[in-house]
Amino acid sequence: MLARLSANEYGYAALQEQWLQCHSDSYSHIEGFVNMSLVVMKFGGTSVADLECIRNVAGRIEEERASGNDLVVAVSAMAGTTNNLVEYASGFARIPDGPEYDTVISAGEQITSGLLALALQQRGIPARSWLAWQIPIETDEAHTKARISNIDSSKLEACLANGQVPVVAGFQGLSPDGRVTTLGRGGSDTSAVALAAALGAVRCDIFTDVEGVYTSDPRIVSQARKLEKITYEEMLEMASLGAKVLQTRSVELAMNQSVRLQVRSSFKSLPGTMVVNEDEILEKQVVSGIAYSRDEAKITLVDVRDRPGVAAAIFGPLAKANVNVDMIVQSTAANGKSTDITFTVAKNDFERALEVINSSGEKLKFGDLLTDQTLVKISVIGVGMRSHAGVAKKMFETLAEKGINVHVISTSEIKISVLIAEEYTELALRALHTAYDLEAG
Ligand code: ADP
Ligand code: ASP
Ligand code: MG
Repeated sequence: MLARLSANEYGYAALQEQWLQCHSDSYSHIEGFVNMSLVVMKFGGTSVADLECIRNVAGRIEEERASGNDLVVAVSAMAGTTNNLVEYASGFARIPDGPEYDTVISAGEQITSGLLALALQQRGIPARSWLAWQIPIETDEAHTKARISNIDSSKLEACLANGQVPVVAGFQGLSPDGRVTTLGRGGSDTSAVALAAALGAVRCDIFTDVEGVYTSDPRIVSQARKLEKITYEEMLEMASLGAKVLQTRSVELAMNQSVRLQVRSSFKSLPGTMVVNEDEILEKQVVSGIAYSRDEAKITLVDVRDRPGVAAAIFGPLAKANVNVDMIVQSTAANGKSTDITFTVAKNDFERALEVINSSGEKLKFGDLLTDQTLVKISVIGVGMRSHAGVAKKMFETLAEKGINVHVISTSEIKISVLIAEEYTELALRALHTAYDLEAG
């Protein structure tokens, strides 16, 4: 069965058409292919950190079930488990083999899905665990950051029709050659959104250890304010710039598939933050939030020849090795012959990036290679920036007043990012939060 997901994620209108035809009988009662009584609930690591937390989650599920909704649940590993598994898997090779690495690091979600199904059964709620390969949730073969290509929803639908609550192990996928894949750190958010899209759920609730999406990380900026709503676009920038409350891909998918997404607390029964279309927010903030990311590794190639094709010789092989490059700065060639090129990659791509650069041989000559892993990227984000000048000026002035040096700058239509020394993270976040008046709302 072809799910709505594969039709839209890659923009194949024909596939979507085919899906609509396949489902026109079974879904003829459902307006716009949304099952008004189906909700996907996803619980993150801290929400299932121990047996007591898992009992609490079972209680939240029971409450939601009492309101008459059908539920599909997705779970992360217990807090800290995936980190331990990563450490184990990294113990054998500097760059571990993808399929085996994924086999190890995906194991935490198997445990939680089973435990939560048991906790639900203990409350008299019929439930069963599902691993990704059993559904299956199909992905490409990009181990450690696989993309979902298709979800066959038929077994989950049968499980629901049986009156059971399916508890799906998030983060996991199945590659075309039958191996376990993982969706990138924080990937169970994406599992949940993909399930919501495939099943036509009316809402996808991401339950976590904070009450919603805040103007900045509430664990660092105590003045941060919970947002009632945030646009998909802003949330996408916030997530990709480090606000790990949602995995970037989950937001991308929710936006493409029009999944109604809510971030809310596992521990308090309160409304959270809704991620919505821009036209649902009347008054647009110039700056809605400030994000930070410590996951930055800076690489500088000194004395690179200044001629056509050099950038392609650097970034082509990196792309081929599946290394995402973020910020790029090229200085002007003062002597007309050579230049310096600086770029950043995620820390877990750092070793691979160096290997690619160092093995480029004759095609890429450079004088020296400098690296720095002690930097943090701070970003201010807001759709209102499109129509307001002066946001960058305020950022640079605020940082200058605190004596913080800016190493690299990058901008887009709705964000400005700077790379600064890691030790100034808290100072910069708090100063910018005040400068943009975010506590006042
Ligand atoms: P989970 O284990 O539930 O997936 P995560 O740790 O992945 O939870 O995400 C929740 C965390 O995201 C919060 O504890 C918070 O510290 C962090 N965070 C960062 N930026 C923000 C933000 N702008 N709003 C809310 N939380 C944020
Ligand atoms: N357990 C995985 C991780 O820690 C996936 C997730 O939590 O979403 O990255
Ligand atoms: Mg998470």
